[in-house]
Amino acid sequence: MKPPAFEYLAATSVEEAVAALAAGDGEAKVIAGGQSLVPMLNFRLLEPALLVDINKVPGLDFIEPDGNGLRVGALTRHHALETSELVQARFPVLSEAMRHVAHLAIRNRGTIGGSLSHGDPAAELPMMAVLLDATLVLTGENGAREMAARDFFEGALATALGDDELVTEIRIPALPAGSGWGFEEVAQRSGDFAMAATAATVSFDGAAAGEVRLALMGVGEVPLRIDAAETSLSGSMFDETAMDQAVAAVDDAIDPMSDLHASADYRRHLAKALTRRVLQAAWQRAKGERP
Ligand SMILES: Cc1cc2nc3c(=O)[nH]c(=O)nc-3n(C[C@H](O)[C@H](O)[C@H](O)COP(=O)(O)OP(=O)(O)OC[C@H]3O[C@@H](n4cnc5c(N)ncnc54)[C@H](O)[C@@H]3O)c2cc1C
Repeated sequence: MKPPAFEYLAATSVEEAVAALAAGDGEAKVIAGGQSLVPMLNFRLLEPALLVDINKVPGLDFIEPDGNGLRVGALTRHHALETSELVQARFPVLSEAMRHVAHLAIRNRGTIGGSLSHGDPAAELPMMAVLLDATLVLTGENGAREMAARDFFEGALATALGDDELVTEIRIPALPAGSGWGFEEVAQRSGDFAMAATAATVSFDGAAAGEVRLALMGVGEVPLRIDAAETSLSGSMFDETAMDQAVAAVDDAIDPMSDLHASADYRRHLAKALTRRVLQAAWQRAKGERP
């Protein structure tokens, strides 16, 4: 199918883009990589009056150190994040997750800001933003505001982004030094959206686990952090009892759906099995027992 007719503006500044969005009064949409938006237009799931193209807006495509953390511009392509040495050195869990986003051709065009704004419950980046306690910078007519990733995702394809706002930047704070990590995903074929995925980071203080983070996706409308699991594992030696408690906390927290690709029961099974794997991997890496 072909998209419906729309007006088109190639914005050359953030100010021009947000002014056009505000004037569009809910009928304007941003286009970045177009990898999610264009299929939706072609299927006529969206019929915006105006597309505001941000590809020519300078200053939105960067990956920079921020203390021991990172700042990433919204127009950064998935493949740039995947192959960045800085990301690999500071957040190897993010490099690994990016390899699971779609196919290379899509990763060459798709952007960080586009994936976060789209808010697909089976997309890797929203889960990584939640796992890594990222902050999103949202810029609108009244200036910029910051929002924790955990507050940004409101439902399937629904976020806290205002009609006149752009995601302009993502800030990722440093992890505790020497944190180990794990990432696991199951999809029908390589490059498909995940049926379920999990990711974890764990620090080790020499005697027991320090900070533990655990996130899941594909098992609810938004990416989840499992606070009860994190609490039960922190201070433990990842013994069988602590692991069982963490998996039980995941079982309690998730609400998977059945669809064409997998039943809710299968997604629940995956969530629990993958949780064990990522926690084990993160714990072993934190103790230096695994590269
Ligand atoms: C076959 C296929 C398989 C895929 N598989 C996966 C997968 O496994 N995992 C995965 O995560 N993704 C997958 N994707 C989606 C892909 O990652 C997209 O690149 C991403 O979801 C959207 O990024 P984009 O830059 O292309 O955004 P666009 O398609 O340009 O925009 C998507 C939405 O975000 C809005 N938007 C874009 N940028 C901004 C911004 N800076 N501020 C505010 N709003 C903005 C748009 O208005 C639109 O509503 C797949 C896509 C395809 C076609």
